[in-house]
Amino acid sequence: MTEQTAQIVIAGGGLAASLAALRLAPAARVLLIDQRADPLAGHTWSFHSGDIDAAQRAWLAPAIRRAWDGQDVRFPGRTRTLRSGYACLDADSLGAALADVPGVTRLTARVASIDAGGVTLADGTRIGAELAIDAHGFAPHPAIQVRSQKFLGQELRLTAPHGLTRPVIMDATVPQMDGYRFFYLLPFDDTRLLVEATYYSDGAALSADDQRAGIADYVASQGWQIAGVIREEIGVLPIALRFDADAFWRSVPRDVPTIGLRAMRFHPLTGYSLPHAVRGADLIARHWRQGPLALARALRRDSLADAKAQGFYRLLSRMLFEAAAPDERRRVMDRFYLLPEPLIERFYAGQSTLADKARILTGRPPVPVRRALRCLPESFKVNPA
Ligand SMILES: Cc1cc2nc3c(=O)[nH]c(=O)nc-3n(C[C@H](O)[C@H](O)[C@H](O)COP(=O)(O)OP(=O)(O)OC[C@H]3O[C@@H](n4cnc5c(N)ncnc54)[C@H](O)[C@@H]3O)c2cc1C
Repeated sequence: MTEQTAQIVIAGGGLAASLAALRLAPAARVLLIDQRADPLAGHTWSFHSGDIDAAQRAWLAPAIRRAWDGQDVRFPGRTRTLRSGYACLDADSLGAALADVPGVTRLTARVASIDAGGVTLADGTRIGAELAIDAHGFAPHPAIQVRSQKFLGQELRLTAPHGLTRPVIMDATVPQMDGYRFFYLLPFDDTRLLVEATYYSDGAALSADDQRAGIADYVASQGWQIAGVIREEIGVLPIALRFDADAFWRSVPRDVPTIGLRAMRFHPLTGYSLPHAVRGADLIARHWRQGPLALARALRRDSLADAKAQGFYRLLSRMLFEAAAPDERRRVMDRFYLLPEPLIERFYAGQSTLADKARILTGRPPVPVRRALRCLPESFKVNPA
C-alpha cells in the first residue's frame, strides 16, 4: 500500500467541496479527490441574493459568473418582476476562482473509504490527513423520502438579442406535462442565454432528445433563433418529502465531518444546495482546527437544527407531490407567486416566519382540503440501511 499525506482531504470535488476549499485556502492546504476528472463541468449553480449574508457574498464573489438585480416569474395571464437579486456560478467561474487560490490541489481517483485519519483510494493508496471530510454528493438513504426536480439546459448563442435583462426563474406559460413543467432562463449577455426545461415530476426519467426538441420549440415560440449550442447540463435533484434527520445522522460516522448533499443539506422544495454549501464552508473554517470530532459535531448540530426548521418546506413538497395531482401543480405555484415579495425571499432562504407559514397555507386552498390534510403527518417508518 502506498502512503501520502495531506492537511485537509475532501472526498468529492463538487460544489460543497470546492466552496469549502475556496473558503479555507490558503490558510489551510486542501486536497480535493473526485472520481471524475472535471467534477464541476456541466453545472450552473444559482442562488437568490437573500440566501447568503454579506460576509458570505464577499468570499464567494470571485466564483460568481453573473449577478442580476431582479428576476421574473411568468404564469398564464401574468408576469411578475421580483426585485430580489439573483446570481450564478458555473464550472468555469468556480474553477477559475479556485485556480487563483494557492493551496488547493485536485486528484482524480475513486475513494473507497473515509475515516477520521484520512481516505483510502480504490487502488489501495492511503492518504492520511489532519482532517478528512466527506462531500460525496447525494445518495439515497432510508431516512429520507424524495421525489425529483429534473431538467435539461442548453446554453445558447442566439442570432439576435433576446431582449431579457433579468433571469426568468419560472416561465410556466408552457403546456403542462410530466408534472409541473416550466422553462428557466438566464441571460448571460445580449445573445447568450441558458434555457432549461424543468419538471417537478413523480418519476426521474428524462429523455434528452425530447427536452432538446422542447427547448427548440420554446425558443422558436419566443421569436428567437439559435446560432449555436455552447454546452448542455442535465440534472435530477432530490426534493424532500419526509426526512428523519435523527435516524440519518445515527448512520453517519461521528468523527467524519460530512457536508453538501451527502449530509442531505438542500432546500427541501427547490433542491438548491448552494446556500447550505456556503454555510458548511463557514462552519469548517470556524471549527477545523479543533479536529474531526469537534467539526463533525458542529456540522451535525447545525444540520439537525436546520432539518427541524425545514419541516415546513417538506410539508409543502408533500402538498405539491401528494395532495396536488400532476396537472394541479402549476396552480399551487401560481398561487404562491401572488404572495408578498419579502415572504417569497424568506421562503427561498429557508427562513419563513410563523406568519409567513400561516399565510402560505391559508386562503382558498389550491388543492382539495381532504387531500391536503392527508399529507400533514411527516412520520414514516425508516427501515435500516
Ligand atoms: C446541473 C445541475 C444544476 C444545479 N443547479 C443548482 C442551482 O442553480 N442552485 C443550487 O443551489 N443547486 C443546484 N443544483 C443542486 C445542487 O446544488 C448540486 O447538485 C450540487 O452540485 C451538490 O453539491 P455536492 O458537493 O453536495 O455534490 P456534487 O456537486 O454532486 O459533488 C459530489 C462529487 O463527489 C464525487 N464522488 C462521489 N462518489 C465518489 C467516490 N467514491 N470517490 C470520489 N469521488 C466521488 C462525484 O463525482 C461528485 O463530483 C444543481 C444540480 C445539477 C446537477
